[in-house]
Amino acid sequence: MEPGEDKNCERCMSSSRKLLYRDLQNVFSCGECGYIFVDNRSVSDKAGLNDKFYPRPSQSAATGYKGYLKDEANIKLTFASRFRQFIEPLGTPAKRILDIGCGAGFFLDIAKLYGWDAEGIEPCDIPPAKGHKVFKGSLKDFCRTARAEYDVLTMWDFLECTDSVREDLFYANHLIKKDGYLLFTSPAPDSPLRYLLGSDWSGFKKFSCRRYFRPDDLRTLLEDYGFFIEKALYAGKYISFGKLNVYLNSFDIRLVVAKKRCDVS
Ligand SMILES: [Zn+2]
Repeated sequence: MEPGEDKNCERCMSSSRKLLYRDLQNVFSCGECGYIFVDNRSVSDKAGLNDKFYPRPSQSAATGYKGYLKDEANIKLTFASRFRQFIEPLGTPAKRILDIGCGAGFFLDIAKLYGWDAEGIEPCDIPPAKGHKVFKGSLKDFCRTARAEYDVLTMWDFLECTDSVREDLFYANHLIKKDGYLLFTSPAPDSPLRYLLGSDWSGFKKFSCRRYFRPDDLRTLLEDYGFFIEKALYAGKYISFGKLNVYLNSFDIRLVVAKKRCDVS
């Protein structure tokens, strides 16, 4: 039996599955609801987790975010653009924001620049985000002491990689104030590029990705944890083109703005 083959679908709990692609990592779809996922390998060991998200320069496999620190300028331009477009217009009465999987703190830098009270959570052993309040550990551990006190919670390229999406959405609901917001990005398996490229689509090549949400999957999972989707659209990012920083939208990364409508227990 392959690792994780005893695990049921995270969306509908069915044990039925179909193999979609046999590749670097086998991609399955649920036989009942069509939810797309890979073998649920555990990423709980820290070394493995670090290598998947922030691979060392010597690693050759297409695993995580290569050149993460070197890409700081582009990442910050991308975050600033998202801040202006999606977070500032929310008009929350207070400005308290928590970034899950904050890495080196690039998003926290931007949030601070816009006058927000920003904090982060980072489970990987990478150098701490300088000048910011960052909890080193899991969302679950953080929730042991934290309360619903954040206006906005962000999960950039996070939900598709975690051990349990349901657990993380439950804790997200716990941390966000009533009428607060959850914003996240995730590869879109219903995008034109995925259908064009099949198993060669970059989303399937990222070793850190463990699931791929279609719009209907997101609606179901978010509603289960007290959120409703206000906005879902394809979001681009800044890349280097020679000496220029250019905004590129390949229409295969979905950005979601979801509002918390009730507490879940
Ligand atoms: Zn299912």
